[in-house]
Amino acid sequence: MTDRNRSHGVKSITASTAPRALVTPAPRLAGVWTAKVITLLPQAFPGVLGESLTGRALKDGLWQLETIDLRSFGEGRHRNVDDTPAGGGAGMVLRPDVMGRAIDHARTGMTPGCPILYASPRGAPFDQAMARRLAAGPGLTVICGRFEGLDERVIEHYAIEEVSLGDFVLSGGEIAAQAMIDAALRLRPGILGNAASIEEESFADGLLEHPQYTRPSDWKGRPIPPVLLSGNHAEIARWRQARARALTRARRPDLWQAWRTRMADAADDIEDDG
Ligand code: SAH
Repeated sequence: MTDRNRSHGVKSITASTAPRALVTPAPRLAGVWTAKVITLLPQAFPGVLGESLTGRALKDGLWQLETIDLRSFGEGRHRNVDDTPAGGGAGMVLRPDVMGRAIDHARTGMTPGCPILYASPRGAPFDQAMARRLAAGPGLTVICGRFEGLDERVIEHYAIEEVSLGDFVLSGGEIAAQAMIDAALRLRPGILGNAASIEEESFADGLLEHPQYTRPSDWKGRPIPPVLLSGNHAEIARWRQARARALTRARRPDLWQAWRTRMADAADDIEDDG
């Protein structure tokens, strides 16, 4: 292991004048939700995860981050990590032996049941259900690809789960990894200030969230919908639910269909019970 394989977090503090105060080579905390990231760009972490609520929680030891520098497992004097694609074609492919060593390293001391993900446009679309599953577990190991991605044999050998951020191609997995870790972290207890906001937001019940407003009550001739200022909480809840449904129906027919099916099934269940 080199000093480029690093832990980020409070208990790991050693005297340092480094600007990235969270980044220190350090032992790991047992029993704390842990994100391990295999990447050619360890300096890109904690990145945005070091800011605001997730950053505070990282400092407070509510979760920990370990970056594993793929380069340090490279071949030869130049620490090569990639080679040309078998069969020809453009770009470079990350070598299975190099990636395998990095994964073996990540797996030492890993809690059983901790998923190994590969950020990949070919993966299952990342969604709130997956964020919930990650949040409920001990953490995750995520592999960030670069160039043309990973040798297929590594994915098969370690039964790695491919997860996509969406139907577009990024230059590397680092932004996707940070997005997934962030989505999971904010569902963990103690990370967000207000747990109620998790229960009401988009996808919590399968609908998109209702529109939000704040002061001033009139802005550029646009008033806040009066019901929101009425103080009538039942009316407000009804209005919000109606807006959430209308918005989901208009923007996301897929979510709308799924929600209606679920509601119909739930109604059937109630009938069966009664
Ligand atoms: N040749 C690959 C794309 C490689 S892009 C293909 O066509 O499938 C380089 C790396 O960026 C990938 O290995 C992956 O880790 C990351 N990446 C690109 N798009 C992504 C997406 N939509 N979601 C998650 N990771 C992505």
